[in-house]
Amino acid sequence: MTHLLSDELLAGLRERAADNDRDNAFFVEDLADLQAVGYLAAMVPAAFGGAGLTLRETAHEQARMAAHAPATALAVNMHHVWVGVGRYLHERGDSSLDWLLEEAASGEVFGFGYSEPGNDLVLLGSRTEARPDGAGGYSFHGTKIFTSNSPAWTRLGVLGLDSSGGGHPGRGREPRLVHAFVTRDGGGFEILDDWDTIGMRASQSRSTVLDGAHAPADRVLRLLPPGPSLDPYVLGIFTSFEVLLASVYAGIADRALELAVEAAGKRTSMKTGKAYSQDPDVRRRIADMALAQDSVWLQLDGITRDLDASASDPTLDRGAGWFRATAGLKVRVTEAAREVVDQAIRVAGGSTYFNRSELGRLYRDVLAGIFHPSSDDAAHATVAQSLLGPLE
Ligand SMILES: Cc1cc2nc3c(=O)[nH]c(=O)nc-3n(C[C@H](O)[C@H](O)[C@H](O)COP(=O)(O)OP(=O)(O)OC[C@H]3O[C@@H](n4cnc5c(N)ncnc54)[C@H](O)[C@@H]3O)c2cc1C
Repeated sequence: MTHLLSDELLAGLRERAADNDRDNAFFVEDLADLQAVGYLAAMVPAAFGGAGLTLRETAHEQARMAAHAPATALAVNMHHVWVGVGRYLHERGDSSLDWLLEEAASGEVFGFGYSEPGNDLVLLGSRTEARPDGAGGYSFHGTKIFTSNSPAWTRLGVLGLDSSGGGHPGRGREPRLVHAFVTRDGGGFEILDDWDTIGMRASQSRSTVLDGAHAPADRVLRLLPPGPSLDPYVLGIFTSFEVLLASVYAGIADRALELAVEAAGKRTSMKTGKAYSQDPDVRRRIADMALAQDSVWLQLDGITRDLDASASDPTLDRGAGWFRATAGLKVRVTEAAREVVDQAIRVAGGSTYFNRSELGRLYRDVLAGIFHPSSDDAAHATVAQSLLGPLE
C-alpha cells in the first residue's frame, strides 16, 4: 500500500485541528502541506503527473487523515471525488475529464458545488438554472449549499437544469441536466459568510450563490435527461463520492477507538483500584467498537478493490448494482462510526464534554455523516428498488 502522508505531516494536521475548530478557520496550513507532498494529485495517474494511487489506497490515506483532522479530510475529499471521476472515466476509455487530471496535477483545487436547498433529488435534478450561451457553454444561476473548500477552490463542478428548450446544438428540446465546471477567476458567484456549524468547522462549506458563473463549451461535460442515469459520469461521481466519504468517517471511528483504548488505560476505578482497562464492561465496549471497525474495513477494502479492478476486468463491473453497493457502504460506515464514537465517549467519560476534548470534537464531526448523500432513507429506497422494482 502506497502512503503519501507521512506521520510527521499528519501530526501537524492534528495539532492544528483543535485551533481551526475553535476559531472556525479554514485549514490553510494543512492545504499548503498537502500540496507540497503532491497529495492533491494522489489519484491522478502517473502519465498525467500524479502519484497514481488506487481508489483503495486513497481511501486508506483519507481515513488516516480523518483520524488526525476530520474537517480537512472531508473537504479535501471533495477534490479527490473529482479526480476519482476523471480517473474512472479515463480508465474506461473516456477522455472527457483528462484535462481535470492534468489540472489537478498542476495544482488546481476542485470544489463540489452540487447540493442545493430543498433538493432531495441530489444528482437527479436541480433548482439551479443552466442558461445556454448559444455557443455550447452555459451560465449558472442558483444557490449551492455546503460548498466545502470555499476559500480555496479554483475550479467548481456544478449541476444545473436547462429548460430553455433548445440552446445546445443537436440536443432536441427536452430539459437537460448540465454537468459543468466554472472557475474562480471567471467570477459570476458570491460565497456567503454563513458557515457556523457544530462540527466539521474547518471545511468552511459555505453557501455559493451562482449568478452568471460561466462554463465554456469545453467545460460542459454532460447534458443528461433529468432522473436516474447509468451514464459513466454519474456512476463515476456516485461511486467516488460514496466510497471516499465512507473512508473519512471510518478514519474518525478508528481514532475514536484509539482514544477509547488510551482512556481505558489512564482512568482508574475507585471501586476496584484498577485501571478501566480491567473493567469487564469497558472491555466489552471496546471489543464491540473493534468488531464494528473490522467489518467496516472489510467492506471498504472489498468494494474499493472491485471498483479498482473493474476498470480492466468487466466481469467485476456491477453496473447499476454499484448504486446499491456504494450507497449501502456509505450508510453502514457512517452509522457504525457514530456508534463507535458514542461508545468511545462512554468509555472516556465526562472530560469529553469539554470543547477542548478531541473525542468531544469527533462526536460533533461524526454527526455530519448522516447528512451527506446517500441519506439513510435514499439508500433504503435504492436497495428496495433493486429487490422490488420501481415504486408504482
Ligand atoms: C460538513 C459538510 C460538508 C459538505 N460538503 C459538500 C460539498 O462540498 N459539496 C456539496 O455539494 N455538498 C456538500 N455537503 C452537502 C450534503 O451533502 C447535503 O446536501 C446537505 O447536508 C443537505 O442536507 P439536507 O438536504 O438534509 O438539508 P436540508 O436541511 O433539507 O436543507 C439545507 C438548507 O436548505 C434549506 N431548505 C430546505 N428545504 C428548502 C426548500 N424547499 N426551499 C428552500 N430552502 C430549503 C434549509 O433551510 C437549509 O438551510 C456537505 C454537507 C456537510 C454536512
